Amino acid sequence: MTQTAAYDFESLLHKNNLKITPQRIAILKEIAALGHATIDEIYDKIKILYPSISLATIYKNIISLQEVAMIYELKLPNQKQRYEIIKNPHIHLVCNACGTIKDMDISTQEMIRTCANQSGYQITETTIALLGICPKCQTTPAK
Ligand SMILES: [Zn+2]
Ligand SMILES: [Zn+2]
Repeated sequence: MTQTAAYDFESLLHKNNLKITPQRIAILKEIAALGHATIDEIYDKIKILYPSISLATIYKNIISLQEVAMIYELKLPNQKQRYEIIKNPHIHLVCNACGTIKDMDISTQEMIRTCANQSGYQITETTIALLGICPKCQTTPAK
């Protein structure tokens, strides 16, 4: 399922006092389209549109977008860090065979609250991942 939520990146950038540049908009659009994108995936896509852009420029943009919490760095076990547009806290299902990442919109608030109450921790970020084999890989014989 593709997430077609129309983000208004321009006004979000404006609200966060970030300069609106075509490159920045393109980076956000690619992250939204890819769902959970590695820096290399973002770079590959942006290079098509802006052949002169450097990886360093992409990094710099990613960092500023992260600072204003427009995107979120996702750290999953055994994976390169990925970036996604900030959404409601959700659970990630990760396929160990093909690497597909699926969002599950299950409320994690109750669980987070329970954890915080029982441990006394102040929870500042959550990354919840369930690892397994996706339906497609279950039916495709291993290569
Ligand atoms: Zn799979
Ligand atoms: Zn996600």
